[in-house]
Amino acid sequence: MADIGTNPLEQSVQFLKGVGPARAELLAKLDIRTVGDLLFHFPRSYDDLTDVRPMDKIEAGALQTVQGEVVEIDGKELPDGRRITSVVISDPQGKCVAGIWFNSLLVVGKVRYGQQVAFSGKPKWYRDHWQMNHPRFQVLDDDEAKLEVVPVYPLTEGLRPEHLRASIRAALTKAADAVSENLPAPVRIKREYPAVSQALWHVHFPETVPQGLQGRRRFIYDEFLVLQVALAVRRRSVRDLQQAPRLVTTPAIDAHIRKLYPFRLTADQDRAVASIVKDLASDRPMQRLLQADVGAGKTAVAVYALLVAVANKHQAILMAPTEVLAQQHWQTLEQYLANSRVRRALLTGSLAPKERERTLNEIKAGEIDLVVGTQALIQDGVEFANLGLVVIDEQHKFGVTQRARVKKLGVDPHYLVMTATPIPRTIALSVFGDLDTSTIKQLPPGRQRVLTRWHDESQRERIYQRFREEMKKGRQGYIVCPLVDESETLDLTAATELYEILRAGTFKDFRVGLLHGRLSDDQKQQVMNDFRARNLDLLITTVVIEVGVDVPNATLMIIEHADRFGLSQLHQLRGRVTRGAVAGECYLFAGLTTEEARLRLRAICRTSDGFALAEEDARLRGLGEFFGTRQHGLGDLRFGDLLQDFELLDMARSDAIELVAADASLRQPEHAALRQAVLARYGHTLDLAAIG
Ligand code: ADP
Ligand code: MG
Repeated sequence: MADIGTNPLEQSVQFLKGVGPARAELLAKLDIRTVGDLLFHFPRSYDDLTDVRPMDKIEAGALQTVQGEVVEIDGKELPDGRRITSVVISDPQGKCVAGIWFNSLLVVGKVRYGQQVAFSGKPKWYRDHWQMNHPRFQVLDDDEAKLEVVPVYPLTEGLRPEHLRASIRAALTKAADAVSENLPAPVRIKREYPAVSQALWHVHFPETVPQGLQGRRRFIYDEFLVLQVALAVRRRSVRDLQQAPRLVTTPAIDAHIRKLYPFRLTADQDRAVASIVKDLASDRPMQRLLQADVGAGKTAVAVYALLVAVANKHQAILMAPTEVLAQQHWQTLEQYLANSRVRRALLTGSLAPKERERTLNEIKAGEIDLVVGTQALIQDGVEFANLGLVVIDEQHKFGVTQRARVKKLGVDPHYLVMTATPIPRTIALSVFGDLDTSTIKQLPPGRQRVLTRWHDESQRERIYQRFREEMKKGRQGYIVCPLVDESETLDLTAATELYEILRAGTFKDFRVGLLHGRLSDDQKQQVMNDFRARNLDLLITTVVIEVGVDVPNATLMIIEHADRFGLSQLHQLRGRVTRGAVAGECYLFAGLTTEEARLRLRAICRTSDGFALAEEDARLRGLGEFFGTRQHGLGDLRFGDLLQDFELLDMARSDAIELVAADASLRQPEHAALRQAVLARYGHTLDLAAIG
């Protein structure tokens, strides 16, 4: 095979000294094909063999190394058939440590009386002496022996660690200098990171454990910096290159809007409003994320923003993720705008073609100020005369790519994105690093936190009894069935069956309704209207009610098979019964379940703080799950962990902002490699024309 290509990083590992076809095949099982892959196959952890202890300084537990002369070699068979080998070493004072191996003949062949050897392992005190099980064993007179820091790599069957290390050493010698240095020198110096090739040596052959870890940190930071620079570039191009209308809030407008609320805004809401007012008054498009715990009042804030736009003679749209939620928002708006002349339209999939046609024409002609609809409907080619503000209620389906699509309306409006899943700050920074955020934490006054209890079947009758009593007093409730295996059919069966059983039995004296995803939008709307109008006492439902359904009189909830729901989802669901002045009650039914599910259920019963839960959720399920499949559109990180490495993420973010402020298009020579890295990684997902 010829040595093709000039970049040594892209060469096959087979070109390395000592790597033949057989080892190359083993490496391929670890997805290591090129020399570059090998360099970036990082150790999972390190074994520190440099902690050498005299025998009287040994401590139980942590990995330590002792040295001594072999004074005893013993092998015997245990009653259960296992072979046990014990080698005792002694120091000049006569203190001894025993190494024990089960079913291992390796050591027997190597060891001889009188040799100086080292054991590295975790000591424990056994009867009257220290003992190590399966210690790492080295003959000290060997040339090879080294008391060093040994990286522990992910391996595959048949691949010996020492062979992998030898291959990595060959790769480093050959190609470490060819790895491009993404970090501009000033940043690298400021953060005290080694140059890239040196960092690679440190990761694989560290002199000390901290040196190895610092080498790895450099690559985590590097990865974060690339992400944060991409976000900073995008943010700048949105801010600097786009022109949005100045939407000014005069005192008269402010007073007028506030008069529409039947309540006073909370301090958190006021703070969010103040930020939005400031953003809207600028000719740079607002890019703001409004996050709030369930029911904390973000829709009320969004209404303020919408009305500022309308007062400035611009059109505004409110986009919801589902038809049910669009309806809900529409009704909310109708309440606020009961006595107002704002010209408004609800754009739903159930509009007759003619009506739809007329509405679209009115929007285009500027005869409608305020449009509510689903994202699908509005993205689907609606033309606006004079669009000033887009409010996107993503509930917990957020994502940067979605926002990118909305932009193609051909205007540069202000953006406000609402999310009902509180996002841990660290994640907000990284994924929404190009958004400003406003957070509403307090609930409106008088609002009660929901009481949440986890029960098994033995309590079911008692809970049903409680429902009957409360419903007799006029309260309403939900029973939520899970989505089974993501199959809509099963989902439907579960809810339908339960509905039939309860309606004919336990709740035969009450008016019971059924709501699930297979109903048409009209049917869903009808059921919701009946429930809202109190023509129904109890609603058997699936997760369709998870998003934003808002019926203050409904304060009771049962969640069936609660162990099948994620934490954020459970929190969203119970948020449905925190709307009224009476404290909500949420009963989780789940039988025997996994340890992970138990942790989730305990967490949800323990805390009602959506932010704490979101953080817990991300930790329990991993970030990929938390965001849904590739929903955030930024792909996975290779080295960094957004939760664990948040300090590095913070550092990278502030460095990125500084860097892009000084060199917006990354044209300075010392930014060339970084620019390349940013484009290679995010050029497809983010609009990075400014540096392309
Ligand atoms: P979110 O959109 O965050 O779920 P909403 O804006 O829909 O919250 O508000 C939830 C409920 O609380 C609504 O019924 C709303 O009328 C009410 N609400 C909102 N803000 C306040 C407030 N400051 N004081 C009293 N009630 C409020
Ligand atoms: Mg709402």
